[in-house]
Amino acid sequence: MQKEIVLKLKPAEALDDTVIKTYLSNASAVPFSSITGFYKTKQSIDARSRSQVWINLTVRAFINEPFVERQALAIHFPTLSASARKVIIVGAGPAGLFAALQLIELGIQPIILERGKDVRARRRDLAAMNKAGIVNPESNYCFGEGGAGTYSDGKLYTRSSKRGDINRILQLLHQFGADETVLYEAHPHIGTNKLPHIITAIRQQILDSGGQFLFEKKLSKLILENGHITGVQTADGDQFVGEAVILATGHSARDVFELLHVQSILVESKPFALGVRIEHPQSLIDSIQYHCSTRDANLPPASYGLVEQVQERGVFSFCMCPGGIIAPAATNPGEVVVNGWSPSKRNNPYANSGMVVQIMVEDAVRFFKKNPQPNLFGTTDPAKHPLLLMYFQAAIEKACFIAGGGKLVAPAQRMADFVNKKESTDLPNNSYLPGIHSVALDSVLPAFVYNSLQGGFKAFGKKMHGYLTNDAVVVATESRTSSPVRIPRDAVTLAHPQFPNLYPCGEGAGYAGGIVSAAMDGEKIAKTLAMTKH
Ligand SMILES: Cc1cc2nc3c(=O)[nH]c(=O)nc-3n(C[C@H](O)[C@H](O)[C@H](O)COP(=O)(O)OP(=O)(O)OC[C@H]3O[C@@H](n4cnc5c(N)ncnc54)[C@H](O)[C@@H]3O)c2cc1C
Repeated sequence: MQKEIVLKLKPAEALDDTVIKTYLSNASAVPFSSITGFYKTKQSIDARSRSQVWINLTVRAFINEPFVERQALAIHFPTLSASARKVIIVGAGPAGLFAALQLIELGIQPIILERGKDVRARRRDLAAMNKAGIVNPESNYCFGEGGAGTYSDGKLYTRSSKRGDINRILQLLHQFGADETVLYEAHPHIGTNKLPHIITAIRQQILDSGGQFLFEKKLSKLILENGHITGVQTADGDQFVGEAVILATGHSARDVFELLHVQSILVESKPFALGVRIEHPQSLIDSIQYHCSTRDANLPPASYGLVEQVQERGVFSFCMCPGGIIAPAATNPGEVVVNGWSPSKRNNPYANSGMVVQIMVEDAVRFFKKNPQPNLFGTTDPAKHPLLLMYFQAAIEKACFIAGGGKLVAPAQRMADFVNKKESTDLPNNSYLPGIHSVALDSVLPAFVYNSLQGGFKAFGKKMHGYLTNDAVVVATESRTSSPVRIPRDAVTLAHPQFPNLYPCGEGAGYAGGIVSAAMDGEKIAKTLAMTKH
């Protein structure tokens, strides 16, 4: 007999198979020896009780029958024939890679064009950012093999279950090397140290199946003929032909949005969120969340999620990285952008999280009225300009670069000082390698962003006692939360309204937010495209 059994265990118990078996035998009223084996199907942490943190564990128990290991998904990827249909994918982030895998399953050859380098070569460019503050505009935390997801925390949860099959994405990641834990943890994550191996395994599969994977190939033009896209041109002058183009270039490829606009291909402004990254000592977050002075060694570093409405504007935490590092996520020289990542063990002494505020078109219009930028909008009314919010995002990133003093040094302020509008006399130790510089952030961030964050921080301090503290540092700016531009697509065909064989895909097109949802969008585009005659 097999049974799903739910257990509520202390942290140490949840790590001990013998203890779990004992509970299973008690719960099923059978002798210990009757439990032939089990595997975990769900696991979450319940830290609501002040006296005890519990692990909620669901297991599949095998009782009086031979134990069978978890049946992990094993998708077979065929070898493509020379006559297979050919589709160009621009961008090798999660959206592009999962679109490619899905196309292969459906017998179509993907030709992947990626502006950046492979995961290994990319590391040198990340080191140059962290050590010398030098940005390579083609190879950085956002651009290169695996996209923005490669050197991330690799958190694998999404609220967008409507978009596709989350479990299939998790199972595929497991098939390509992710730990089994991603299959049952409520908040799975992979970690920056492990992601590159998984991405490499995906590339190898694509190549083994007969797909093409080309690096340092930057899209510079879509080739248009009679209302059709016949192919693409890359910056080195090469041209590629395919029956359709999947555009999966991510939210940081400003030059792609510009080139679409210049080629009169419809794009639209899209509200996004911008703010700061905040960093606390991890021990402080552990003590608040787990109600303890020192974290139980059997528990992972604690995380949090916070949200508040401040004067009808949403303020929320974003991409929280327990045991993490604040990363320089700029894609061009002259801008400061921060984000966060953590290794699989999440064993750094800091906890960082984005803290961001909703940004609407009217906010950016007001901003540019106050801070006019000649020639930016040409003769177009800024409110109607499709790249308005992107320009706003870029302007704040540039202001942060100037305030930091160069070399990716980020302007920063202690948290209580931020709330009290007081310049910090010194700054705490922190994880941001290019360095931080004390600046009164109300002189850098637009007033509505600053005031919303100030209100949010006060509210968060009440929700999490001890959170609002000068031991935490606020670093500006967290601006690449989601795309400030949408590339429209038809709800049924998923193609661009002007071009039936152009498929905007993933986060950059405005249809995903995060690794899993971008991957799901890639699969969805590939399936729809495969059923369409172009
Ligand atoms: C530091 C960091 C940490 C993050 N942590 C998490 C996390 O823990 N969990 C999570 O879910 N999400 C996280 N994210 C966000 C996540 O990485 C993105 O949501 C996801 O990667 C979006 O996937 P995508 O494929 O749509 O786009 P991207 O991953 O942005 O990929 C786009 C690709 O297109 C390429 N490209 C751009 N322009 C061109 C061009 N002109 N020609 C050819 N190629 C081009 C880029 O080089 C890039 O490889 C993090 C992001 C960063 C930067």
